[in-house]
Amino acid sequence: MSKIPSEGKTASGSVLIVGGGIGGMQAALDMADSGFKVHMVQKDSSIGGTMAMLDKTFPTGDCAMCMLSPKLVEVGRHLNIDIHTLAEVFSVQGEPGNFTVGIRQYPRYVDPEKCTGCGLCEEKCPKKVVSEYEQGLGIRKAIYSLFPQAFPNTRLIDKENCIFFQKHKCRACEKLCPAGAIDFDQTQKDFELRVGAIILGPGLDRYNPVIRPELGFGRWPNVITSVQFERILSASGPYSGEVKRPGDEKHPNKVAWIQCVGSRDFNNANPWCSSVCCMYATKQAVIAREHDANIEPTIFFMEMRAFGKEFDRYVDKAKNEYNVRYKRAMISAVRDEVDTGNLILRYAEEDGTLVDETFDMVVLSVGLQPHKDAKEFASTFGIEPNEYGFADTSPFSPVDTSRSGIYVTGTYQGPKDIPETVTQGSAVAGKAMSLLADVRGTETVVRELPAEKDVAAETPKIGVFVCHCGINIAQTVDIPTVVEDVKDIPNVAHAEDLLYACSQDSQDKIKELVREKGLNRVVVASCTPRTHEPLFQETIREAGLNKYLFDLADIREQCAWCHMGEKERATEKAKKIIRMSIAKAARLEPLKSESVPVTHAALVIGGGVAGMTAALSLADQGFGVHLVEKEEELGGLAANVFRSIDNRDVRQFVKSRINEIHSHSGITVHNGVSVKATDGYVGNFKTVLTDGTEFEHGAVIVATGGEEYRPTEYLYSQHDRVLTQRELEGKLETESPRPEDIYVMIQCVGSREEPNNYCSRICCQDAIKNSIAIKEKTPTAQVFILYRDIRTYGLLEDYYKKARDLGVIFVRYDVERKPEVISRGERLEIKTFDPMLNRDVVIPADFVVLSTGIRPHPSTEEIAKIYKLTVNADGYLLEAHVKLRPVDFPSEGIFLCGLAHAPKNLEEGISQALAAAGRASVLLSKDALTVSGTVARHNRETCMSCLTCLRICQFGSPYIDEDGRISHNEITCMGCGICAGICPAKAFQVNNFKDDQIVAMIDAFTEPMAGGY
Ligand SMILES: Cc1cc2nc3c(=O)[nH]c(=O)nc-3n(C[C@H](O)[C@H](O)[C@H](O)COP(=O)(O)OP(=O)(O)OC[C@H]3O[C@@H](n4cnc5c(N)ncnc54)[C@H](O)[C@@H]3O)c2cc1C
Repeated sequence: MSKIPSEGKTASGSVLIVGGGIGGMQAALDMADSGFKVHMVQKDSSIGGTMAMLDKTFPTGDCAMCMLSPKLVEVGRHLNIDIHTLAEVFSVQGEPGNFTVGIRQYPRYVDPEKCTGCGLCEEKCPKKVVSEYEQGLGIRKAIYSLFPQAFPNTRLIDKENCIFFQKHKCRACEKLCPAGAIDFDQTQKDFELRVGAIILGPGLDRYNPVIRPELGFGRWPNVITSVQFERILSASGPYSGEVKRPGDEKHPNKVAWIQCVGSRDFNNANPWCSSVCCMYATKQAVIAREHDANIEPTIFFMEMRAFGKEFDRYVDKAKNEYNVRYKRAMISAVRDEVDTGNLILRYAEEDGTLVDETFDMVVLSVGLQPHKDAKEFASTFGIEPNEYGFADTSPFSPVDTSRSGIYVTGTYQGPKDIPETVTQGSAVAGKAMSLLADVRGTETVVRELPAEKDVAAETPKIGVFVCHCGINIAQTVDIPTVVEDVKDIPNVAHAEDLLYACSQDSQDKIKELVREKGLNRVVVASCTPRTHEPLFQETIREAGLNKYLFDLADIREQCAWCHMGEKERATEKAKKIIRMSIAKAARLEPLKSESVPVTHAALVIGGGVAGMTAALSLADQGFGVHLVEKEEELGGLAANVFRSIDNRDVRQFVKSRINEIHSHSGITVHNGVSVKATDGYVGNFKTVLTDGTEFEHGAVIVATGGEEYRPTEYLYSQHDRVLTQRELEGKLETESPRPEDIYVMIQCVGSREEPNNYCSRICCQDAIKNSIAIKEKTPTAQVFILYRDIRTYGLLEDYYKKARDLGVIFVRYDVERKPEVISRGERLEIKTFDPMLNRDVVIPADFVVLSTGIRPHPSTEEIAKIYKLTVNADGYLLEAHVKLRPVDFPSEGIFLCGLAHAPKNLEEGISQALAAAGRASVLLSKDALTVSGTVARHNRETCMSCLTCLRICQFGSPYIDEDGRISHNEITCMGCGICAGICPAKAFQVNNFKDDQIVAMIDAFTEPMAGGY
């Protein structure tokens, strides 16, 4: 239950979120969707953060802006989220449940209430300024918008560059603004807010490589930063996605990436690893090759830190399919080649030979670092920063700051990638929800939607909106020609093009036109329905139409992107795709979305640290929890771990969690049993356990964990001095090494090789933790670590340094020449090829310690079958969307966390568990849920009960009823249409994908262009 200490005072049901990056936005959406009022304070003129500058993202290649843009609109238009841009917090007083926050908002000089976002002011502004968003590679105006999809889409005036503010003349924007929105008299204003909890997500800044003149940034124009390269790759960037070098705008062939610029540098810059640079460089090299096949990318690196899910395979793909060359070398200086603009990189081969190599362009993979005001920021909120200026947290409470009621999300807690940031966004939401559970719903308002217009008797009046998607579509498809083509098709009442159909101003325009022209169907021709359909559906619903009277014609993924360079043919294809969509739209029917009640309880499968954390978080919010653990005891793998890398007592922590679980009145523990069967659907599951216990619940969290790989190599179980790291850790708890002992640790045992070609993520940390323990107990004992890459990402880099300082010796090995372990009586001998010495070395050892990999728990597969979940090639559960829905499954109401998702350490598992609980709470906090109307309809009259549908349905919606015949549960149906496709009797039809609609689309494709549908 609520942990608000302020007895007697009513807590506030509002939260303050500082920072509008992807971490802050996820937290905002989860909080607002589960009954809390959110105030978001954002320093920039728009929300979006770092992600707004990125092109595509690793390892999926998803377009960053395409993922971000719907989120911007979702956050921006959420009734229970107030966004205060150009604002900062200057004071915080109070306690959990009751904080008073002072906010200072700087003037925009444009009135957001009046501005329509038409952009005329920007177009006509005579003052050109170098664009910070384009990283100095492009131009903006003195009145501008941070980026085209910015939210809010109200422009702002840059006072320092505005001719009126500087010279008291011009006022062109004011004269031209049709809405009278320009307000040169605006001033800074201070105001106060009362909130129950505070979430900090200010993100990080990027290292400025000017500080390292030897790398040539700022001196040689063809040396650029990785952020500049993101903009160069971007279709909406300074060169429209063409890879050119800034010096002379020539197409470069040889491009070099220099890794760790401003990271892992204990002497000149930041000591930590920035966690994302190895992968973003790989991504940039791959995308550069996709844009221009002549590019020859080389990545100069020290350690390839591909430690995330599917990352190693991505690097292999980059090497094997995209010819990305990875060169293990440190670049100490970049020189320019006279008159060519080329750059000469000097590096030493591993054997010491010096090489000079010339490149056309150099990209510096700059690291991430706290904002320069990080100290002041921490002191405003009264929280402790760590020694580097990140928010100080503990591995057991990764989103709690030192001040109760104030939480941290995203990169401000330590460098991380998008999915980890999104995960933490949901995790902090889970924490804040637990704190404020008692005041949920006290400060929120309910959206009043206009009554739905009855269009049954009307002839179709279709509005068609064709999106440029910047130049994503427009550079391949001739948009004006397409608009011209569709505008005279019968039933089309309006057609026009939009620069970004998903931006706020476009949404407003669509709504306005629906009302003004009486449109009763809308087609948007743009990107993928996967990310954007819900946004447009909501827009037309707000305009009074049933949301299913919408169709999305995908002319980006299915046209522009796959026909780059074929403008004429792509334009013809786009016309056809849109004509098909119009033909279908004319036949769209309004659908009803069913409402189902929610059982306010959850099932958590797996009683390891992740499962226990999720269970406690949910129970603290007042939801009932059934925690099911296969073993007799709770605790999972962590029960056998003694210490964390920062020397905290893990077993004590696990014990206290177990005690909390057992003493929590909201949690029922089912030990020694597993799930036998399940029935039901989101909000209403029924589960039967192997001991026959039955219960109902609204959500499921799968936390089935993993297990340690039992090695068969390196004489394990043949020689009693060959141990695993776990066994060594146990020994070190009770014994000290002898002064003369020699330990040889071998990394990547059972990891990073087919058929388990993934990094187990924790083995490097484990080896370093145990080697530090050996050296601290017995400094004369020797430790050798034989490794492929040391992956101490983020702030863990400190421990790598500590191990080196304590005298641990690191020797790299190649996977093609693995170490050999030889028994020498009681002792052992290890032969390994040292690439630095370019010869074999032999190390006598008292102990060989194997850093063994992680495998999914065998019961994960069983649970996946019961709940119809998908696992990846390595047996780990597959999330709904790698970037944006990292703890959700495609099946609604089911969430995941911990090792069942992928290898991760305790801290990351705890974050993910809090996130899964946060996501589950969003649904459990509702009394009823609305389920999609796009479901299959079953016709009992024509059904022969042949059972084909029953066998094929992934979601278990067809079932055998009491008459022994097939019936269909529309609530569990996900509308995938497999039943409709396979049913020999045509007894299934998917709403709005009915045969007549599909046939009309086919006709529109095959028929000559003229004529109606
Ligand atoms: C070159 C590069 C490439 C990358 N590529 C990838 C990739 O391909 N895949 C991937 O997963 N990750 C990638 N990343 C990492 C990814 O960008 C981050 O993980 C993610 O954007 C971090 O989100 P965040 O919300 O923590 O912070 P941010 O995005 O930095 O957002 C924080 C926001 O808070 C605002 N703010 C700061 N201080 C204050 C304050 N005092 N008051 C109010 N607001 C404040 C900031 O202006 C900012 O808008 C890349 C990073 C870089 C630099």
